[in-house]
Amino acid sequence: MGVVLALSDAIVGQDDAALLLTQRTNQMNFPGNRYIPTCSAANEDTNLKNRILIFDTTLRDGEQSPGCSMDVREKLLMARKLVELGVDIVEAGFPIASEDDFQGVEAVSREFPGARVAAFARCCSADVERAAKALRYARQPRIHVCIATSEIHLKHKLRRSQSQVLQEAVQAVELARRYVDDVEFSTEDGSRTAPEFLEQIARAATAAGVRTVNIPDTVGYSTPKEYGALIGRVVQALGDTAVVSAHCHNDLGLAVANSLAALEAGARQVECTVNGIGERAGNCSLEEVVMILKVRADQYPFRTGVHTEHLYSASELLASLITFGPQPNKAIVGRNAFAHEAGIHQDGYLKYRATYEIMDPKTVGVPASRLVLGKHSGRHALRQRAQTLGYELTDEELDALYLRFSAAAGRRKKGFMDEEIQDLIEQGRHPLRRVKNQSTRTEVAALPPSASCEGI
Ligand code: MN
Repeated sequence: MGVVLALSDAIVGQDDAALLLTQRTNQMNFPGNRYIPTCSAANEDTNLKNRILIFDTTLRDGEQSPGCSMDVREKLLMARKLVELGVDIVEAGFPIASEDDFQGVEAVSREFPGARVAAFARCCSADVERAAKALRYARQPRIHVCIATSEIHLKHKLRRSQSQVLQEAVQAVELARRYVDDVEFSTEDGSRTAPEFLEQIARAATAAGVRTVNIPDTVGYSTPKEYGALIGRVVQALGDTAVVSAHCHNDLGLAVANSLAALEAGARQVECTVNGIGERAGNCSLEEVVMILKVRADQYPFRTGVHTEHLYSASELLASLITFGPQPNKAIVGRNAFAHEAGIHQDGYLKYRATYEIMDPKTVGVPASRLVLGKHSGRHALRQRAQTLGYELTDEELDALYLRFSAAAGRRKKGFMDEEIQDLIEQGRHPLRRVKNQSTRTEVAALPPSASCEGI
């Protein structure tokens, strides 16, 4: 911790006691403008070199995508959850884009003084000034300036030369630094930018005072090997002058894999969103990248400040605020992420959880694993559900119940409520001994049975 504070002192200056106090209180361990080398034995005991900053852009990149609009009240609800989750930076909006965006950033800054709040801006003075104004109540403001750097964007969108873009970037950074200490610079379409120019503009922005250089794979085109190599090159070019950041889109389903490759190459900030929402196919999914780092710490020796037990409720809250939730088979937070239907899987899971489950659902805030009774289910799972409902079945009774269940499942396409399973039990030819009545609200999905009910 001593090293953390020493580093913080170096970044914010001894005179900014309030900011430092906030950092101490929140134990953010914020590395600020220092890139922490990954392979230096000298840093082994600092606990900083492998600390990954989680930059959440659910309220900016996520919010600007179709079906994801949030008003100020909704943004505040989501921001509260993000703070509870322990993300390091909350990007709250793009203030010049709309009055709502401006008010969203302002409200989040005002309501959550302990949070580091970022506002997005293009590299022009109107955007930067608007962002600064929206952040005026923030105790830890960050202005995030962005300009496209790829040849295709320069030629067809900006119609500017590389030197013009470089000049505008530096001017925007210098302007932003007049308002705040913490400026992030993004190279839009960075993954399709000539690496030489990327290095040049990253160095120029850092010299102008940015603490974080973000290299987005804006169009979700890159691959882990390619993106990792590019990030590694920028990390090397910047040394310890700035934190390098990954911002990946999921157009080819590689956003999380690309982000991990970036971390392995030395990036120490990941930009991500709850449920992976964002432009087109979305951004890197926060819950996935965080849980990979937790569950596979043997492969990725990094840590985040995220309290993972809030991941599920964050996902649920977001789903309630926008027009869609995660797909049922979405990793970590999907309805089926901890559901087991195949008979062999259910049998193994019931004997020993780790046979088919790599993480305890409680670590992400899901109350319990769901055993889905369907055509692939076996007797073992049916017996357990009956027990949950308060019935102790003999083997004979279980066989009879199983036949009735299979027949009923064949007539149904939608799931059974527990009450309906209870009815099936009660229909038994032999009066069953009801030992207790535990009413649960689990919904049981039952699919038409197949010949291979018992087993896979
Ligand atoms: Mn984006």
